[in-house]
Amino acid sequence: MSQWLSDTIAAIATAPGEAGLCIVRMSGPDALKIADRVFLGHSLPSNCQSHTVHYGHIVDPVSKDRVDEVLVTIMHKPRTYTCEDVVEISGHGGMRPGTRILEALILAGARLAGPGEFTKRAFLNGRVDLLQAEAVAEIIRGRTDAAHRAGLRQLNGDFSRSINEYRGKYLDLLTLIEVGIDFTEEDIPEFHYSHFLSLAKPVHQSLKDLANDARNWRSLTEGLRLLLIGRPNVGKSSLLNRFVNHERAIVDPSPGTTRDTIEEMIDFNGVPVSLIDTAGIRSSGRSIESQGVERSLREAESCDLFLWVIDGSRELQKEDEQVYQHLNVEKTLGVLNKSDIGSVLTKDLLSQFDIQEWVQVSALTGEGFRSLKETLFKKMVGAHDNYESQGVVNVRQLECLENALAHSHQVLHLLNREYEQEVIAIEVKEVVSQFDQILGLEIGEDLLDNIFSSFCIGK
Ligand code: GDP
Repeated sequence: MSQWLSDTIAAIATAPGEAGLCIVRMSGPDALKIADRVFLGHSLPSNCQSHTVHYGHIVDPVSKDRVDEVLVTIMHKPRTYTCEDVVEISGHGGMRPGTRILEALILAGARLAGPGEFTKRAFLNGRVDLLQAEAVAEIIRGRTDAAHRAGLRQLNGDFSRSINEYRGKYLDLLTLIEVGIDFTEEDIPEFHYSHFLSLAKPVHQSLKDLANDARNWRSLTEGLRLLLIGRPNVGKSSLLNRFVNHERAIVDPSPGTTRDTIEEMIDFNGVPVSLIDTAGIRSSGRSIESQGVERSLREAESCDLFLWVIDGSRELQKEDEQVYQHLNVEKTLGVLNKSDIGSVLTKDLLSQFDIQEWVQVSALTGEGFRSLKETLFKKMVGAHDNYESQGVVNVRQLECLENALAHSHQVLHLLNREYEQEVIAIEVKEVVSQFDQILGLEIGEDLLDNIFSSFCIGK
């Protein structure tokens, strides 16, 4: 490990392409010496004070050709991103300047950084814990303002503090159990299972709440798939257009748009939502079951919520009922569209369907649309009023939380059956170990490499 940290690493930290500026970053024990070899300015970087900026040129250390006109920021350890000496070179943007600066640094003795290697060093040098390091990747990746805010909270240590609190609570339980294990037989203080259970239960319950919130938040940040479903001509496409015009469209780099369906990504109050409309499929001669509904049903399998759209200005049609047969009612919000041209569907008529909520709307005029959005959002985030979490909660963290919860559940089970203290202690230690893994206190080199390899280079 120390061998690995003795290298000085460098990488382009800004995105490639035409831009005003390009920043090349260098970190490690020789950062200042290497900067001396390539920087031509009023003073040598190694003589400069920490956290100062200097104008000059980068030169090729072999040919001495000028590579770019730059500003160089000198930062001495330990008050830097990595806790090492850091030099940041700000040159012209574009394809070549950054690459040529980087080549000059490598010729002068730096090594090309791997993905996430700067942040990995910040972690290995103890500046951030693993949760905070991962927050950096989430901030870069986050697609909505809410995800960005959660990333910042995690970077700030809110989530780490919370995990540490839970870790402390389980360590307290462990201490209580272990009192007695080391005593000789005649000195063993009596272990009151019921008393211990009364202490462990609320801790378990709050861990359960935390895991629930984390699960919920994870699915919200990953995004929800919302299917507009209904027979043709009820106004599904018109509703989709209204959503897209009202919310911020998300530019999603992943190729996801299914052929024959329209899929639009929007930022809905901070939750990335994929709105899917199968309206492109019409019953051209064939029955709707064989076309539109079938297509919708295939989409429905992977959907989190349905907006079942009905033309509220007309009598119910057989086709409406056919669509209903295939809905998951728990996940469905009913929409009575075309309220601007009247409403013939009474509550009585609708009560034959097991749909909890109906909203009246006009996709044409926008009437009722605000109420539709509010009801829909409540359905999306469920009972979680405070749906913004303390952190981003990635898949790794969630898995550890789920494991911790399973072991904590086992603790209660063993207590209820009055198992020996040693056996219970093992389970409590397992819970603590999961928290250690979340925080990166107990983590193998392989897993660490795996985590940081998903970062971009230069971060
Ligand atoms: P889809 O087949 O379910 O996607 O329905 P469309 O969105 O294509 O709409 C079908 C027809 O209904 C179009 O002529 C729309 O202009 C009309 N329409 C949609 N929503 C409304 C509405 O709220 N009020 C009225 N009056 N017409 C609507």
